[in-house]
Amino acid sequence: MPELAPQIFLSNSLHRQKELFKPIKRGRVGLYTCGPTVYNYAHIGNLRTYVFEDILKRTLLYNGYNVNHVMNITDVGHLTSDADEGEDKMAKGAAREGKSAQDIAKFYEAAFLNDLEELNILPANKLPRATDHIKEQIALIKKLAQKGFTYKTVDGIYFDTSQLEDYGKLANLKNQELRAGARVGIGDKKNITDFALWKFSPPLGNRQMEWASPWRVGFPGWHIECSAMAIKYLGQPFDIHCGGIDHIPVHHTNEIAQSEAATGKPLANYWLHGEFLLTKETEKMAKSSENFITLQTLKNKDFSPLAYRYFLLQTHYRKQATFSFEALAAAQNGLTRLYETARGWGAPKIGCAEYEQKFLTCINDDLNTPSALALMWQLVKSDYPDAAKKQTLLKFDEVLGLKIKENTASVSSQKNQPLPQAVEELKTARNAARVGKNWAESDRLRLKLEKLGYEVKDTKNGTEVRKK
Ligand code: AMP
Ligand code: ZN
Repeated sequence: MPELAPQIFLSNSLHRQKELFKPIKRGRVGLYTCGPTVYNYAHIGNLRTYVFEDILKRTLLYNGYNVNHVMNITDVGHLTSDADEGEDKMAKGAAREGKSAQDIAKFYEAAFLNDLEELNILPANKLPRATDHIKEQIALIKKLAQKGFTYKTVDGIYFDTSQLEDYGKLANLKNQELRAGARVGIGDKKNITDFALWKFSPPLGNRQMEWASPWRVGFPGWHIECSAMAIKYLGQPFDIHCGGIDHIPVHHTNEIAQSEAATGKPLANYWLHGEFLLTKETEKMAKSSENFITLQTLKNKDFSPLAYRYFLLQTHYRKQATFSFEALAAAQNGLTRLYETARGWGAPKIGCAEYEQKFLTCINDDLNTPSALALMWQLVKSDYPDAAKKQTLLKFDEVLGLKIKENTASVSSQKNQPLPQAVEELKTARNAARVGKNWAESDRLRLKLEKLGYEVKDTKNGTEVRKK
């Protein structure tokens, strides 16, 4: 990282203003992003948040930072209301599909990681699961208990928010306002804002996921997992914590409360929140309502995941975006036009410094992707030589993540790519079938290769296989 690193400005929800980013350790960033609750597919609203976080991470990398990114997988403890009421979402998913909570978690975690890959979201350095960190969560609750921040009710161990002067500072709500705004009943909690650190298993013992604890058999609350895992892998304080805007009043407010109460230190220096994706003008997309749109819904309608990524980049992450298939179709057209234009440009050579400088200014100004895209189109239409434009476009794509290189390679260079391993294996098997004069098998393997989009030619040197 150069001595005079470029300046990055980020909107810090904690202080409600745009601030110059200053890392704790020079050249390094510890980044924690709240991950999915793996009881169902992610909907495209959830995916908007992960794309925003990816743009943040890519921007930090682009500026030369070494980023240590941790994202949790919530596989226990997130109840159907973000407060402490209702069923565990994992149990709900298990009942819906007649499977175990573990199987549900495994399946939807894999589906989620697949979505991220298709959206060209860079993988996190660590993906800790809540169920693998029960020990750390219990240790943190014990620390809070020793400091007198907890109390016991009939159904669990709770955090007493009235003991913190500045509880709710992230949401900028006075306790009184939080009280008025809360919809849930108070039960035998002392204050409406108090939250469960550890919930006891129901007495009839029908929970699939439960653990022994110094209190009673039960399971951790949702907020404690993020604090325990963030502190374990990133230390306290770390640099940046992110999530969707809905996490401000409850989840992140409670993460801050319990982590600061435990150690007296801030949890993270910068808190960034992505705005919601709406389906109609005012309706937010929610996983709990059954009619949500997934990445698969888009693919079934012949939209590419990268067209959705491009659609998202057209709106600043701090503004609400309204999804429609018309807008997605326009984004897909735009992206296809971009690929087609740049495909004709040939090999990249020495870029356009003027545009690269302007791009850095856009993206370092609180991740201004709409301006960055506008600048990209200015570049495309500019009079710079094609080879220079290509070079600069590929540079922009390190942040935009639209896979411009892969989608603009000339057809001949695509043909010369090494064959994927599975295709190599089919080719070897077909060669063997031919040598053994097993014609039926040889025909079957040729058809299979053709179906996969390969051309098969038999020469005197054996079978040749090429991308069609
Ligand atoms: P969940 O799997 O429900 O814990 O949510 C995963 C992430 O998606 C969280 O960071 C939420 O804040 C975010 N999120 C939920 N709904 C939306 C939405 N409609 N638009 C954007 N982000 C959302
Ligand atoms: Zn979290």
